[in-house]
Amino acid sequence: MYHGPYFARHHDDVKIETPPCVVCGETSELYLTQAEFNALTLTREDGKPYYLIQQALPHRDSDFRELVMTGTHPECWAQLFPEEDDR
Ligand SMILES: [Zn+2]
Repeated sequence: MYHGPYFARHHDDVKIETPPCVVCGETSELYLTQAEFNALTLTREDGKPYYLIQQALPHRDSDFRELVMTGTHPECWAQLFPEEDDR
């Protein structure tokens, strides 16, 4: 089980499990605030998500959003796409 840098901050934070990472196959447990969880799981009448992830999690960085949506870890992304200017 992956243990990322994301921990519960409030007593009512909601724990979610991500899909398996496409690189290492590990799922992750993350914590969202109740408001974030509600926004993320809200659906339209046709069953599609009401908000884009950027709208549901406006205060999170892109690494965190990627982890929530696809389960892909930031460090695994870094393996897939090494930064060429960091040599
Ligand atoms: Zn991974």
